[in-house]
Amino acid sequence: MKLVAEALSLSEPAARRLYRRSILKPAFIPHKFFSDIDEAYLLEKKFGKYEEGTFIALSNGRSYLARGFPKIKRALILGECVKKHFESCDVAVEEKINGYNVRIIKIGKEIYAITRKGYVCPYTTERAREIINREFFKDYPEYMLCCEAAGLESPHVQKEIYGKRLNFYLFDVRNTRTNEALNVERKIEIAEEYGFKLAEVFGIWSGDELMDNAFRVIRKLDGEGREGIVMKDVNMSKPPVKYTTCYCNCSDLNYAFRYFNDVGRDFMLTRAVREGFQSYELDIRDEMKNERCLRLGKAIVNGVLDSINEVIEVGKLFEKAKLRFRSEEVMNLFIAHTKKLTRADFEYLGKDEEGYHMLLLKKERTSTADRIRHLISGGFW
Ligand code: ATP
Ligand code: MG
Repeated sequence: MKLVAEALSLSEPAARRLYRRSILKPAFIPHKFFSDIDEAYLLEKKFGKYEEGTFIALSNGRSYLARGFPKIKRALILGECVKKHFESCDVAVEEKINGYNVRIIKIGKEIYAITRKGYVCPYTTERAREIINREFFKDYPEYMLCCEAAGLESPHVQKEIYGKRLNFYLFDVRNTRTNEALNVERKIEIAEEYGFKLAEVFGIWSGDELMDNAFRVIRKLDGEGREGIVMKDVNMSKPPVKYTTCYCNCSDLNYAFRYFNDVGRDFMLTRAVREGFQSYELDIRDEMKNERCLRLGKAIVNGVLDSINEVIEVGKLFEKAKLRFRSEEVMNLFIAHTKKLTRADFEYLGKDEEGYHMLLLKKERTSTADRIRHLISGGFW
C-alpha cells in the first residue's frame, strides 16, 4: 500500500481507507501472463484529480500509473457548440471509432491493455501483444497509447465495419502520470513512425470552414455506417467534443429495443432525443425528415420484433461474441476475468485453421426474454 499511496500522492492510511471503502479495488487476476505485475489497483470513482478508471500497478519495487481516460462532452447542436467552444482555434476532425476504450502501457518487460474501468484485460492484452509495436515504449516510456479496440471479435461492441479481427485505433498519446496529451500533429507522426492504425484525422479547420467540413464528414460517415466524430483543438489544450451520426443513434436504439427490459431507459431516451436535435439542425427538406423518421422507427420496431421472433424460435435471448485466443491459458484467464465482472456463459468452439482457440461469449438477456414470453402468452405489461 505504501507505493500505491505514493503513486496517488496520498498518505498510507488514506490509501487504506480508499481500499476499505472499495473505491480502490484489485484490477487484475494474478497469473504468469501478467508476470510483470505484483499488485494492481483501480479507482472505481473519480478521486481528487484522479479520474475514474485510474490504474496503479506495482512491479519490481516501483509503481506505474495510468490515469483514467477523461470524459468527452457531447454536442447535440453541432454548429453552435463548435462556434462557442472552439472560437477561432484550429480543430482536428477525427473519426469516432465504435469499440471500447483501451490504454496500452508498458510495465516491466511487457505491454498491458487496460479497459476504461481500469482492469487489465487478458483478451485485449493478448491481442495488443500480437500487433502493437513495442519500440514506441522505448522512445516514450512515460506515455500510454489511448486506443479504441474495435472489430467483430470484441467482447463489448461487435462491429464488422472495422473488420473481423480486433484492431487498435490510436486516438491519443498521453502521459501516464499527468494525463497530458501530445498534440494532434505529434500523434499523427507517432502513428506513422511506429505503424499504428489511427482513428482517421479528416482534416484541420477553423471557423466556418470547420463547421462546413464537420457537417460534410458527418454525412459521409452516416452513409458509411460509422459512429461519428471527435473534434480536438490541435494543441489539445481545450477539451474535445463528440458528435454522432444518425446511423449510430439508430443502431444503438435497435440494440436497446432488442433487449428492452435489460437496457437502461436513459440509454434509449438520450439516443432518441439526439435524433430530434439532429433533425432540427440538419433536415432542411421534408423528405430528409421523413427518411430520418423511417430509419428511427424501423430501428425501434425491428429491434423488438427480432427479439420476439428469437424467443419464439429459440426460447431464449443471447447477446453473442466470437473471440479468438492464441493461448488456451489466456482464454481460461479471460473466462475467469469476465465471470468476476459480469454474468456470462462460454462455449468452446475448438481451433480455427491457424490454431487459434475460438470461444463463444454469451450474455443471456433473461429479463427481456421473460417479459416477451409472458406477453406473447397473453400476459399484461
Ligand atoms: P465519455 O468519454 O464521454 O465518458 P462514453 O463512455 O459514454 O464516453 P462514448 O460516447 O463512446 O463513450 O465517447 C467517448 C469515447 O469514444 C472515448 O472514451 C473513446 O473510447 C472513444 N473514441 C473513439 N474514437 C475516438 C477519437 N478519435 N478520439 C477520442 N475518443 C475516441
Ligand atoms: Mg464508444
